[in-house]
Amino acid sequence: MNIVVTGATKGMGKAIALLFAKHGFNVAACARTQADLDTLKGELIALHPSATIITSVCDVSKKEQVLQFAATCKSAFTKIDILINNAGVFVPGNIHNEPEGILEQLIDTNLYSAYHLTRALVPDMIKHQHGHIFNICSVASKNAYDAGGSYAISKFALYGFSQNLRHELKQHKVRVTAVLPGAVLTDSWNGTQLPASRFINVDDVAKLIYQAWEVSDRTVVEEILIRPMEGDI
Ligand code: NAP
Repeated sequence: MNIVVTGATKGMGKAIALLFAKHGFNVAACARTQADLDTLKGELIALHPSATIITSVCDVSKKEQVLQFAATCKSAFTKIDILINNAGVFVPGNIHNEPEGILEQLIDTNLYSAYHLTRALVPDMIKHQHGHIFNICSVASKNAYDAGGSYAISKFALYGFSQNLRHELKQHKVRVTAVLPGAVLTDSWNGTQLPASRFINVDDVAKLIYQAWEVSDRTVVEEILIRPMEGDI
């Protein structure tokens, strides 16, 4: 079995890559930092020594780099079982006064990345009548919140993309799951004064994704909406 994960060197992407490797998957991973990809590769091989592990430097906000990463994945794997569109950035702000260009940056990174990578990989899933695409959205995909700004616009759009994609692909037996986490303790929250107990555990996100993958082909988990036990922060 083969999984493709974007933004796999930290946070949720890394937790997902490690958990699926533990369950015997080959992994294709990307991020922008070569040293972190090398570290990830070592950890994945330690968990699954016979696995094929592909690591590529790729800035997902750049279409040509996304298409190059897709080509690398297709040449490494005869079929792709799972695609995790995870890479994303959060820039707090307000629509009325955030700096010029933030919307473009966040749409490029959080939306177009998933759009282009999915379009490159999904024809093979359709051909095999098999596959599962997870899009890492956010609770910010459903509700306005303080300092959501353009980030929330990009995550609403990714959620809309997920719903339309599921509708299109159900006849081809390709499952689409939108993952909508509240605050998860990852590097995105470096410097926070809040205790770890106020955040979702990153491994819980990976576990829920694995469980959604494990259900029988007759079933699709459409959404995974998760929050810290004590509510949003
Ligand atoms: P994180 O810990 O900050 O890690 C982000 C990962 O993505 C890193 O591997 C990073 O590596 C990579 N990345 C960032 N920009 C990239 C780009 N342009 N091209 C390729 N790779 C890129 O992130 P996280 O908190 O796990 O968040 C993962 C996803 O969940 C994001 O889409 C985020 O919006 C969403 N989310 C997060 C939270 C939360 O509270 N943490 C809540 C809801 C949703 P490099 O920097 O080396 O590229």
